[in-house]
Amino acid sequence: MRLVLLGAPGAGKGTQAKKLIEKYGIPQISTGDILRKAVADGTPLGKEAKSYMDKGELVPDTVVIGLVKDRIAQDDCKKGYILDGFPRNTSQAETIDKVLSEMNVPLDVALSVDVDKNYLMKRLTGRRTCRACQHMYNVFFSPPKTEGVCDKCGSELYQREDDKEETIKKRLDVYEAQTAPLIEYYSGKNILKSVKGEGSIEDIFKEICALLNAI
Ligand code: AMP
Repeated sequence: MRLVLLGAPGAGKGTQAKKLIEKYGIPQISTGDILRKAVADGTPLGKEAKSYMDKGELVPDTVVIGLVKDRIAQDDCKKGYILDGFPRNTSQAETIDKVLSEMNVPLDVALSVDVDKNYLMKRLTGRRTCRACQHMYNVFFSPPKTEGVCDKCGSELYQREDDKEETIKKRLDVYEAQTAPLIEYYSGKNILKSVKGEGSIEDIFKEICALLNAI
C-alpha cells in the first residue's frame, strides 16, 4: 500500500504512521525526521535545512523531493510506504505523482487526519521529546511521571525549536496556505479518505484501519 498522510502539524500523523508500520509492515517516510537527522549529523544538507526549519518555513522543494525519491527507490519500499509530512505543497504533490506514474506505482490513498486548530496549539506547544530515545510526551495530554524526565530511559526531555509558540503559529499558517490545498488535490484524484484526529490514539487507529481495509 502506498499511502500519504495529510494533516496539520500536531494532528498525530507521526503517531498513527508508527502504528501503521507495525500493522502493514511497510516503512514510514517522514521528511521531517530525515531532515532533523541531517541537522543533528551536521551534514551540508542539514545546515541548509536548519535555517528554514527553525523559522517554521518549508525547506526548498528540490531538497525534499530528492530525499524522497532516493528513499522510495530503496528495497524496503517495494511493498509500499507511508509518506508522512510529504508532500507539503501542490508542486511537491505534482512532482511525486509524475515520478510514481512513470514508475507505474501510483499512490493508493491520501488519508487526511483532521484536527481543530485550538487543540493543535495545545498538542504542539505541550510536546516534549526525549533527547536520548526520542519518545514523545505532552505536558497537557500525556505528561511524564517526573517533569522534564523521560519515563522510559530517564534522560532529559526538551522542546523542539520548531515547537515554540511563535514558530508553531508560523507552521500552522504555512500549513493553511500551502499544504491544506492538497486535500482538494487528492479529492480531485478520488483517493482522499478523512478521519477525525481527536480522541484516543487507539480509536483513531481503528477508524483508519477500517477505512484502509475498505479500499
Ligand atoms: P514536520 O516534522 O513534518 O512537521 O517537519 C518539520 C519541518 O521540516 C517543517 O516545518 C519544514 O521546515 C521541514 N519539512 C518537513 N517536510 C517537508 C517537506 N515535505 N517540504 C518542505 N519542508 C519540509
